[in-house]
Formats: sequence, structure tokens, C-alpha cells
Amino acid sequence: MFDILIVGAGSSGAAIAARASENPNLSICLVEAGPDYPDLSRTPRDLINSHNNSYTDHDWKFRYEPTTGRSVAFPRGRVVGGSSAVNTTIALRGMPEDYDEWAAAGNPEWAWDQVLPAFRRLERDLDFGHEPWHGDAGPISIRRYPRGELTTPQAAFLDAADRLGYPYCADANEPWGYGAGPHPMNKLGRLRVSCAVGYLAPARIRPNLHIRSHSHVSRLVLDKGRCAGVEVLQAEGGIERLNARLVVVCAGALQSPALLMRSGIGERTQLENHGITCVREHPGVGKNLSDHPALSVVCRGKDGLKVDHDAPIIQTILRYTSPGSDKRNDLQIEQISFAGKPDGPPMFAIAAVLEYQYGRGEVLLGGADPLTAPIVHNRFCEDERDLKRLVGCMRDTLGFAATSPLADMTHSISFPDPARGTDDATLETLCRRFSASGYHPCGTVKMGPENDPLAVVDQYGRCHGVDGLVIADASIMPSVPRANTNLTCIMIGEKVGEWLRTRPTAYGL
Ligand SMILES: Cc1cc2nc3c(=O)[nH]c(=O)nc-3n(C[C@H](O)[C@H](O)[C@H](O)COP(=O)(O)OP(=O)(O)OC[C@H]3O[C@@H](n4cnc5c(N)ncnc54)[C@H](O)[C@@H]3O)c2cc1C
Repeated sequence: MFDILIVGAGSSGAAIAARASENPNLSICLVEAGPDYPDLSRTPRDLINSHNNSYTDHDWKFRYEPTTGRSVAFPRGRVVGGSSAVNTTIALRGMPEDYDEWAAAGNPEWAWDQVLPAFRRLERDLDFGHEPWHGDAGPISIRRYPRGELTTPQAAFLDAADRLGYPYCADANEPWGYGAGPHPMNKLGRLRVSCAVGYLAPARIRPNLHIRSHSHVSRLVLDKGRCAGVEVLQAEGGIERLNARLVVVCAGALQSPALLMRSGIGERTQLENHGITCVREHPGVGKNLSDHPALSVVCRGKDGLKVDHDAPIIQTILRYTSPGSDKRNDLQIEQISFAGKPDGPPMFAIAAVLEYQYGRGEVLLGGADPLTAPIVHNRFCEDERDLKRLVGCMRDTLGFAATSPLADMTHSISFPDPARGTDDATLETLCRRFSASGYHPCGTVKMGPENDPLAVVDQYGRCHGVDGLVIADASIMPSVPRANTNLTCIMIGEKVGEWLRTRPTAYGL
């Protein structure tokens, strides 16, 4: 019997395990479906190498439908460290208004002034650690590429931004910042500073923290309105039960709702259609899927342009606001250093990303079998407000490709096909058809007060109507923040971990 059993050792789960285990009176078991690499000497290169994402060796092999009728791979990390161990290491915070919006929806603990201490605590900002909005002693090291370390397309992107009149922004995490500059990144040289590296490496020697890898949780054990533990699939085909006084689900925005549904928590008709008895009706489980729709301009470089596929894939960013929008920095444009194949012609891309999304998708249960993948419908750009702003962002991105020095490097544009024109109607069709995920799903087990019909957990992550059960990861965000989501997931882990460490009685411990 553990005090706390955490399902999923990803960005949030690893941070919770590390913070909660600082309390030596709590015994903690961190359960992860994927493998564990306890030190860097035994960690495979795809997890070390942050110059590109790891897409295959430690992945769940899920698919999703970004826009109706299209099926695309949806990468998710399956390893201790979770998606933080396979990602691009962009370390960006949302806008203060994002968190204030969560607070206004009935979650005052998540207002900007409440989350800022957790953002500061999680980071060791090597460039701006002295600023009052930054931290200089946290587990996640963050730095920005200086000009001399930028690849040719990345340096050209910043020069084009300057020519287009965007201001230079030295620190994209400055709360009121805007403009183009280097990305804050949680990498040191090539090393990806994942949550396995930053949080678990120093915590794993604690005698009260047990890390169980290769342990796929098939179901929560629910008994008389209380979660009493989990069932884990065994390699030989059997099931092992693990008991805990509190179960904290951190399986990510696709798998946390799926695990709840398989265990009988969700929309009654959907569960019954899969032959699952509804233990606690929660219509919000799997709903409210929020993400960042994106589409890229792909450029064929001039012959002789050096494009290195082993260089950092991304280094710079433009955060800006679409005309007439009341949502500050609701758009991003990012330079992608290389595209296509290493043995093909030199290619690079420029990504247009919608950061404030009005539309919502959903995650459905694929089946009662725990090995069945969830079904994901994003419904990108079905909301006209999203469509219009992504079209505008694509137009601005085309403007980058047409501006020196990026234009001087470009032989031709491969996408969107110039022969088909780039009028608004054409760009709308392309966005409706081809926009795809920025890999930032969240919102599918939304937090909020009990009178919110779609809220599944309260603002402390406690499941409404089920004792002994907490959910704490990307799924509890009411909406996607205007930033890549890793830092916000770690911040969620910091806050819930701190509450568990200092106020265990609030969780029945
Ligand atoms: C390829 C890629 C690139 C990305 N790039 C960036 C970036 O540069 N910057 C950024 O901010 N964000 C990025 N993201 C998004 C970011 O990494 C995620 O938002 C964040 O890591 C999610 O954290 P989480 O804790 O919610 O889930 P995860 O980190 O995904 O953790 C969930 C964990 O639970 C485990 N798990 C799931 N189901 C079970 C089960 N049934 N039993 C046991 N274990 C289970 C999983 O294996 C995983 O380890 C990227 C994501 C991907 C996939």
C-alpha cells in the first residue's frame, strides 16, 4: 500500500513525484508504461538528442484526425520523462491572461500571480535568471541560442522579421513581451533536459520514491465511490493490482481521459456502448480538446544552400497578435531549419501556428481493451475565428518567405503551390484541409467548479464525486495556453506536487 501512486512519468507526473517525495513521510510509486533509463550513459541517443524530436523509438504510435477525413500520426512519449523526453525542448510560458482566464472560470489558484512562483521554481534560466519573473535555481535549465549559434535559415528569419518591422524580443518569456527572437529552450548543447533528467535523476535515490517502468496501467480500481488503486498489465498476460491511498493520474491529454473511461468514469452512453459499467457519470471526460492548429510554408532552397539535417530543427520564434484581436500574441511564426529528406534538395519551412484556439475537439474511447488507442478528433479550423486568424498567419508567413534574406535563399515555394494562387479562399481551403496539431493537446479532463457540467476535477485536481483520485497533467487545463505546453505541464506538476508535499490532508492523506 503506497500513500500516492502516480500513473505516468511524463512532464507533470515526474514533477509531482519529485516534489511530493521531498516529504519523507509519503511513500510514492511512479508507474510508467514505457522504459526507464536511470542515467545518461544508458540513455538512447534519440532521447538525448534534442536537435530533433524522437518520433518512433519511444512513441505510443497513436493517430488522430486533425481535420475531417484525414488520419495522421500523433506522437506521444512512452518512456520515463514522457513527452518531455521526446520533444523539441521549446520552453515557453503562456500569456499571463491565459492563466487569469483559467482563474476566471472558477479556478482562482491558477491566476497568473499564483502560477508565476511555480514557473520560477521549475527553471534555471541561464540568460535572465536575475529578472523578477524568472528563476535561477530550478531543475529545468533553460537558455537561448546566441546569434553566433543560429543556423543560416534561423538567422535569416530574424533578419527578415526585422525588415518586416517586428520588434526584437530577447526574452520570449518576458510576460509582456512581443516580437521575434531566440526561443527559450530546455537543452544544454544537444542534451534534452527532460523531466527524467531535471526532476527524477536527483530524486530517484530517495527511499520513499519507487519508479516502476514497463507497467501499463489498464484500469483504476474503484470501490464505493473511492479509488483504491490500479491494475497493471503484466508481460505474461496477467493483471497485478497495486493499492494506494491516493491515485494521481498523469497519463497525458489523450490517455488520462481514456483511462478514466475504461474505469467507468465518463459519458454514460459512450461507456455502455463499449460494455463498460458507468461508475460515475462525467460528460466532460474526453470533451474540450484544445490544441494549436498549424500549417507550414515549405521552401525549396537555392542549389548550394547548406541545410544540415543534424542541426537544431528550431531556434527562433515570432510571437505577435492578429489584427483586431483582443487576444495578445494569439499567433506564432517559427522557422524550421530543415525539411524534406537529408539526401534530397535543400529544403526548409516556416510554420504558422494559431496559439489562441476557440474551437474544440474530443477524445473518444477506442475500446474497452486497455491496449486500444484513443480516437482523436481535433476539428481544426471549423470555428471561423480560428480559420480567419490562421489564414492571416499563413499570409504573414508567406511574407517572410518573400523577404530578404530568406527570399534570397529560396529557389521556389513547394507549399502552398503558387500555381494554385494564394488568395484568401485558397488559403482557407488549405487550412481547413491540412492544418495539423502543434502536438499540444490538452483540456480533456477539465478542471472547474462542480456546477460546471464539463468540469471533471476541482482546481486542486481532485475528481468530483470520486474520493482518492486526482488528475494532474495537460488534460486538466481548461484551454490551451498561448505557448507550447511542456512548461505549463511542468508548472501543473510543480503546483500539485507542492500541495501534496505540504498539505497532504487536503488530499485525504
Ligand atoms: C514530438 C513532440 C514535440 C513537442 N515539442 C514541444 C516543445 O518543444 N515544447 C513544448 O512546450 N511542448 C512540446 N510538446 C508538448 C509537450 O511535450 C507536452 O504537452 C507535455 O510533455 C505533456 O505532458 P503530460 O504530463 O501531460 O503528458 P506526457 O508527458 O505525455 O506524459 C504521460 C506519461 O504517461 C504515460 N502513460 C500513459 N498512459 C499510461 C498508462 N496507461 N499506464 C502507465 N503509463 C502511462 C506515458 O507513457 C507518458 O510517459 C511536444 C510533444 C511531442 C510529442
